[in-house]
Amino acid sequence: MSDLPDDLNPATQLVHGGTRRSQFEETSEAIFLTSGFVYGSAEAAEAAFVNDGSRFVYSRFRNPTVAMFEDRLAQYEGFPRCFATASGMAAVHAAVFGLLKAGDRLVASRALFGSCLYIVSDLARRFGIESVIIDGTKHEEWEKALSVPTNLVFLETPSNPCLEVVDLEHVVPLAHKAGAKVVVDNVFATPVLQKPRQYGVDVVVYSATKHIDGQGRCLGGAILCDDEVAAQLAPYLRHTGPAMSPFNAWVLLKGLETLELRVKAQSASALAVATFLENHPAVERVLYAGLDSHPQRALLKKQMKAGSNLICFHLKPVNGDAKAAAFATLNGLKIVKISNNLGDSKSLATHPSTTTHQRLTVEEKAILGIGPGTIRLSVGLEDADDIIADLKRGLDTLV
Ligand SMILES: *Cc1c(COP(=O)(O)O)cnc(C)c1O
Repeated sequence: MSDLPDDLNPATQLVHGGTRRSQFEETSEAIFLTSGFVYGSAEAAEAAFVNDGSRFVYSRFRNPTVAMFEDRLAQYEGFPRCFATASGMAAVHAAVFGLLKAGDRLVASRALFGSCLYIVSDLARRFGIESVIIDGTKHEEWEKALSVPTNLVFLETPSNPCLEVVDLEHVVPLAHKAGAKVVVDNVFATPVLQKPRQYGVDVVVYSATKHIDGQGRCLGGAILCDDEVAAQLAPYLRHTGPAMSPFNAWVLLKGLETLELRVKAQSASALAVATFLENHPAVERVLYAGLDSHPQRALLKKQMKAGSNLICFHLKPVNGDAKAAAFATLNGLKIVKISNNLGDSKSLATHPSTTTHQRLTVEEKAILGIGPGTIRLSVGLEDADDIIADLKRGLDTLV
C-alpha cells in the first residue's frame, strides 16, 4: 500500500499516513465515490466474499477513500484499528451497543454531551442494560461503582461544556479489574492534545465534525480500538450501516493534514482569550484547561499537552439577571458567531442553558455547572486580538 518509513513523526503522519495511490499516481488523495466494486470473474467475486476483507466489496463495509482516513487517524492516535462513521453520535452509539448486550452493566461519568448521555442512560436502559451514572471527578464514586463486575465504562474528558476532567490513570485500572472496557469520548481534548491509549483506554471515539474537519463543512465520526474490540465491532457496523460517505472522508483527510497546526494555534489564542476573560470585571469565573485557576489543573497538566480551544465562562448577573448578561454579550459579537458547533476555524459562542443543554432541568444543569450566565466559547483561527476586542465590546457594556 505505501512504502513510507514507519517511524514518522506525528505531524508527518497527518500529511502522509494511510495514503493509497491509484494507478494514476495522483498527489492528493482520490475520492472513490462508488457504492460497489466489480469483479473480473464469478470466481473472483466468490473469493472476495470468502477471504479476509482485503479487497473492497461494498462501501458500507469498506471504501478506499474512507480507508485512507481510517488508517491516517489510527496511525496518529496510536491504535491498530479505526472505523469511520457518518457522525460522532454514530461512533458513540456503535461503540456502546456493539460491545454490550441486555443484562450487562455500564458505568458512565455524568458530565457528558447531551446525546452521549441519552445513549448511555435512556437508550441503554431501554435495551436492558444496567446504567450507573456517577460524578466522574470523584475517585470514591468510581471506586464504589466499579467494585462490582462491569462490562463498559464511558466518559468524556474534558467534558462538554464545563470542562470537568476524569483521572484516566485512576479509572482505567479500576475498570479493567471490574472486567470493563473503557470508552473515552476525546472530542474536547482532540487527538493532538491527549492520547487516552497511553493510560490503557480500550476505545477512543471522535466526532470528526469538530476539530478533525475543523472548518465546519461536514459530519463524521471515528472509533479507534485494538484488534480484539475491532472483531466485536466489525459485524455490528457492517450490518447496521453507519458508514461514512467517501466524500466526507476526503474532506476529513484534508482536515487531518492541518489538524496539529490548527489545534496548536487555536490553543495559543484560547489561552490569551481565557486570560483576558479572567481579568474582565463582568466575568464571574473562567474554566479553561490551560489556566492555573482550573480546579483540576494538576491533572490536566498530566493528561493534556495544552488547554485546547474551548473555554467555558460564567458572567455576573446584571440587575440580578445572568441570562440577560449572557445574551447581551452574545448579541454584541460581530466576529465570533453564535452557533452550537465547535472546533471550527471560525470562533463560535454558545449559550448551553438555552440551546445544547435546554432539555435538562435547572437542577441537572446546575450539577453540570451550567447556569444562566454560562457561555461556551470555541476559539477559532482569527487573530486573538480581534477575538478579544470582539468580546470586550459586549462585556464592557455590562459593567
Ligand atoms: C459534537 C459531539 C458529539 C457528537 O458528534 P456529531 O458529529 O455531532 O454526531 C459527541 N461528543 C462530543 C463531546 C461532542 O462535542
